[in-house]
Amino acid sequence: MIRFLTCLFVVIAASAAEIHLVYPRLEAGQDTFRYHRSLDSTFVLGQVAGFQPGMALTCNGYSVDPSQDGAFLAFLQIPWQSETLAWNLSLTYRGAETSTLCFPFGANPEPVPVNWTTLSQPVEFRVKDPAAHTRTMVGGSYNLFPDSGTVLLVTRTSANWLEFKVGGGLSDVIERRFADSVGVMSSFTQQLRIGNGLVSMHDEMIHIEFSADRTSLIECSNEQDGEELLLTVYDAKCAVDRIRYIEGARDAVSDITWSQRPWGVEFKISLNSQLSHGFKWFTSDSTVGIDLYYKADKSSGLRGKRIVLDPGHGGSADGSIGPRGNKEKDIVLHWSEILERELKSKGAEVIRTRTDDVSIGLYDRVVEARAANPDVFLSLHGNALPDGENPFVRHGCGTYYYQTLSRPLAEIIQAAILQKTGLHDDGIFDANFAVVRPTDFPAVLIEAAYIMHPDEEAKLTDEKFLLDLSRGVANGLLDYFSKAPAR
Ligand SMILES: [Zn+2]
Repeated sequence: MIRFLTCLFVVIAASAAEIHLVYPRLEAGQDTFRYHRSLDSTFVLGQVAGFQPGMALTCNGYSVDPSQDGAFLAFLQIPWQSETLAWNLSLTYRGAETSTLCFPFGANPEPVPVNWTTLSQPVEFRVKDPAAHTRTMVGGSYNLFPDSGTVLLVTRTSANWLEFKVGGGLSDVIERRFADSVGVMSSFTQQLRIGNGLVSMHDEMIHIEFSADRTSLIECSNEQDGEELLLTVYDAKCAVDRIRYIEGARDAVSDITWSQRPWGVEFKISLNSQLSHGFKWFTSDSTVGIDLYYKADKSSGLRGKRIVLDPGHGGSADGSIGPRGNKEKDIVLHWSEILERELKSKGAEVIRTRTDDVSIGLYDRVVEARAANPDVFLSLHGNALPDGENPFVRHGCGTYYYQTLSRPLAEIIQAAILQKTGLHDDGIFDANFAVVRPTDFPAVLIEAAYIMHPDEEAKLTDEKFLLDLSRGVANGLLDYFSKAPAR
C-alpha cells in the first residue's frame, strides 16, 4: 500500500512538473524574438519546476542536462533550415511526455543602408547633449565625446546621422539628436588658432590652459601607465610660443610639448609621477585645456575614503536573468547593501547611486558619481553573454575599465575577488562602457559572475558568497590605496 501511494505520488508530481523558459523572452511591446541570420548557435535557459531525478529534458531533440533543482542552460544550433523557427522543449518521465513548451522566433531583417545627402556648403552644428558621442562610421566604434557647446562642421546628413570634419581629411559621424544646426559656416571662416599656455597649482588640482578662438573638438588620452597625457585639439592651427608655469606647477608637470599635426594641435603632457586620480578637459570660447586631479589624503586604509557604488540596472531595466528567474537588478542591489556595510565597517564613506528598485540612466549615474567627488567608483553587475556566444566557454568574474588611469584599480580588485571567492578568472577587459568612461576619478565595473549559469546564479543568491565577494572587493581597495602614487 505504501509502495502504491509512493508510486502514485511520483506520477502526480511528474505530471505537475512544468518547463519555464527564461531566455529567450519577449520584451514589453515585442511581438517576435529575432536572431541575426549570421548566428549559428545560441543559448536557451530556464528551469523545470518540480524537477526530479529520472526526468529527461530535450530542446529541438538535443538532450539538456538540468541541475538538481531543474535549472538548465544549453547551447544549441539555431534550426535555420527547418520550416518553422522555434525552440521546442520537451520533458519526459518514464517514457511519457509530461510537459512541453514551444517558443517561436524569427530572423532580423537586413539592415537598411544609410541614405546620405552631401551639403553644398558645410553647416555648423553645436553639440547640446552631455551624453553626446561620435563614431568612426555608422555602426563603428565610439570615437570622441565632445562637450556641450562644441561646434561641428557638418558636410553630409541623413535621417538620423550627421557626418562632420574632424581635421586633416578625417571625418566622424554623430547622431542627429546630440546636436542642433546653428547655420552655414561663420566662425569657421577663420581657422581655429591655439595660443600660449599657463600651468598653475591649486588645491588637489593642476590647471593647464591654452588660449583659443572658440570651443573646439578635443580628445585627451592617458598614456604610459598614467605618466603622460595626450591632448589633441582637432582642426586647429598651433600658435603657441610659450607655456608659463606658476605656483609650483613645475613640481608636478615635467614637460609639455606642442606640435602641429595634419588633423590639429597635439600637446604631450609629461608628469613627474603617475596620475593618481583623474583629469577632465575643458573648452570654451576663449580657452582649451585640462585639469589634473589628485587627492591630498594619501593614507593607505579605507578610513575617510569616499566610495561610490553603482548597482547596475533597476526599475524597468532587469539586466540579465538567471535560469531560476533571479534578476540582475535585484542581485546587485542586495550585493551593494552588503558591500556598503563591509566598506563602512572599515571606515569608508559609501554613496550608492540607487538604494531602491528604480530606473537610472547611465549618464545620470556618472553625473551622480561626479557630484560626490569619489576616491573610486565601482559599478556592480552580474554577467550574461550576447546571443550566439557559448556560455560554456566564458564564466566567472571579470573586471572592466576604460581609462588607463583606472587599470591598476581593475587589476587589483579582480585579483582580490578571485583570491577570496575562488571564482574562475574571466579576465580584465578594456571596454568603452559609459560608466567606466569618466576620466575624473578611477572607475571600474565588476561583473561578479554569470547569472545565466545555473551554478553561478546559485552563488550570487547566497549570502555567504556575497559576503566573500564584498570582502574580496574591500581587500582589493585596501591594496589599491596602499599602492597609491604620490600625486
Ligand atoms: Zn549588468
